[in-house]
Amino acid sequence: MNTDVIVVGAGPTGLMLACELALVGVRPRVLERRTAPQRDSRALSLHPRSVELMDQRGLLDRFLPLGRAVPGWHFAQLPTHLDFSALDSRHAYTLFIAQAHTEALLAERARELGVEIERGYEVAGLSQDDGGVEVRVRGGDGSVETVRTGYVVGCDGGRSVVRQSAGIAFPGTDETLTGVLGDFAVTGTGLDAARARGVLVAPLEDGLTRLVYLDPERLRVPAGEPVTLEEVRASLVRICGTDCGVGEPRWLSRFGNATRLAESYRRGRVLLAGDAAHIHFPAAGQGLNTGLQDAANLGWKLAAEVNGWAPPGLLDSYDAERRPVGRAVTDNTEVQTLLAELTLVPRYQRPATALRALFDELLGMDEVNRTLAARVSALGTAYEPTAPEADPLAGRRMPDIGLTTATSDAIRVYELLPAGRYVLLDLTGDPELVPAVTPGWGTRVTAVTVTGRDDHPDLHGVTEILVRPDGHIAWATRTTDVRARRAERHEALTAWAGTGAGTGAGAGT
Ligand SMILES: Cc1cc2nc3c(=O)[nH]c(=O)nc-3n(C[C@H](O)[C@H](O)[C@H](O)COP(=O)(O)OP(=O)(O)OC[C@H]3O[C@@H](n4cnc5c(N)ncnc54)[C@H](O)[C@@H]3O)c2cc1C
Repeated sequence: MNTDVIVVGAGPTGLMLACELALVGVRPRVLERRTAPQRDSRALSLHPRSVELMDQRGLLDRFLPLGRAVPGWHFAQLPTHLDFSALDSRHAYTLFIAQAHTEALLAERARELGVEIERGYEVAGLSQDDGGVEVRVRGGDGSVETVRTGYVVGCDGGRSVVRQSAGIAFPGTDETLTGVLGDFAVTGTGLDAARARGVLVAPLEDGLTRLVYLDPERLRVPAGEPVTLEEVRASLVRICGTDCGVGEPRWLSRFGNATRLAESYRRGRVLLAGDAAHIHFPAAGQGLNTGLQDAANLGWKLAAEVNGWAPPGLLDSYDAERRPVGRAVTDNTEVQTLLAELTLVPRYQRPATALRALFDELLGMDEVNRTLAARVSALGTAYEPTAPEADPLAGRRMPDIGLTTATSDAIRVYELLPAGRYVLLDLTGDPELVPAVTPGWGTRVTAVTVTGRDDHPDLHGVTEILVRPDGHIAWATRTTDVRARRAERHEALTAWAGTGAGTGAGAGT
C-alpha cells in the first residue's frame, strides 16, 4: 500500500478522500488539528447525489438508520420547495443527517481501510519542488517537524493553510451579511410563525430544534462576534413576535456570506478539495455535499497518478471538472442570498418581495423545479467530455439500472462500483468482451457481460459503456460492428485506464 499522500483535515471532505484513496491502494496520512471529532453539526443534509455516492461505495446501510429521508429541500427559503422525488434516481430524497454522523461513519470506514487519522497535528505550511512536498507539521506539544511526501491535498476548510502556502489565490467577495444558527430546547409556541417569517426550523434527533435566521437589524454583525441567548431571543421577537420559548442552546454560531472560489484546484503536487476550494453562504445545504463529490472525483485520479498508471491529463481533469461545479454552486448560493438580502434593504423591499413571489411561482412549474432540483441535488452534474465526437452520455452520471449478467442473476450498476474501479458493460451480451479486456486492464476495470437490463431512455441504442469509479460515464458507444467497437474500446480504455492494453503489462493496481 502506497503512503505517498498527505490529506490535511479530517472534515467530511478529507475523510471521504481518505476512503477513496485507500480503496484503490493508496493509504494517505490524514493530519487533523482537532484532538477530538467535532460534536456540533453545521450541515444536516446529504443530498441525492451524495446518497448515491454512499450507495456506490456500499455504505448506505450505515447512513440510512441515522438519518431521515425528506422528499425535497428549500431554495432561498421560498415556500415552494425543490421536489427531488421527481428526479431520476433510486435515492430521490435528501437524507437529513447530522454532519457529526457523516464524519463518524466516514472515519469508521477510513479506519477499516487501514487509514489512521492523526489528531492533534496542525499543518503550519508547505513548499514543493518537482519531486515532492515538504510539509511543516506542528504537534500537540508545539514542536514542528518537516515531513516529505509526494502529494498533499488541502481539505482544511475555508481558511486553508494548504491553499495559502501553495500560493493559490482565493478570489471572491467578503461577507456582507451574517445569519445565526442555534440548537435549542424549545418550550414555547410560535415555531409556525417563525417559519412563516423565513426562520428555518428543523427538528433534531435529540429533541432539540435547529433555528437559523437572518435578523434585518443584525445583518452587519461580523461572523466572528459571538452570539448570545439574549440576542437570539430579541431577534426572534423582532422577526416573529415571540422568542418561541428557546432555552439554553447547545450550540450557537454566526455565519456569513463570504463567497470565494480557488483560482485553481491544483498547483503542482498540491490539490484542494471541499471548503478549502470554495466557500459560500450555506444556502440550500450544498457545501458538505460538494466537498464529498470533490473527493469522489479526485480520489481515483490521484491514486492512478501515485500508482504510476494515470493517463496524461487525468489528474488535471479534476480541476477542469470540479471547478465549474464549484462556480455553479457559489453562483446559486449568491442568487439565493440576494433574494433574501434585497428584501431587507428598505429601497428594494417591495420589488424584492415581488421578485421572491415571482421565483416562487416559477418553482411551481415542473420544468423549472426539476432544473433547479437537478442542480442542488447534484444529480444533474455532468462533466464536459474531452474526446472529440464523444457520445452525448459521456460525462453524465450513470443511471443505476438493474442488470442481469453472465455471472450473476440480478445486480444494480452501483453494486458493481464499491471497489472503486472502472466498470465496462457490454450491453449486447457478447461473450467476447470480458476475455478481451481482462489481460490488459484486469485490476483497474471490472468487465461485465450484460445479458438483460432495465429499460432506460438514455441507454437506447447504446452497445457498450465505460463507467468511471465515481459513477460518471467515461465513454459510451452505439456501434454494432464488433471490430469497430473493439477499436473504440481500446482507445477509450487507454485514454481512461492507461496503457498496457491486451499485453498484460498494464495490470497494476
Ligand atoms: C450554518 C451552516 C450550515 C450548513 N449546512 C450545510 C448543509 O445542510 N449541507 C451541506 O452540504 N453543507 C452545509 N454547510 C457547509 C458544510 O458544513 C461545509 O461545507 C463542510 O463542513 C465542509 O467540509 P470540509 O471537510 O471541506 O471542511 P471542514 O468541515 O471545515 O473541515 C476541515 C477540517 O480541517 C481541519 N484543519 C483546518 N486547518 C488545519 C490545519 N492547518 N492542519 C490540520 N487540520 C486542519 C479542521 O479542524 C477541520 O476538521 C453548512 C455550513 C454552515 C456554516
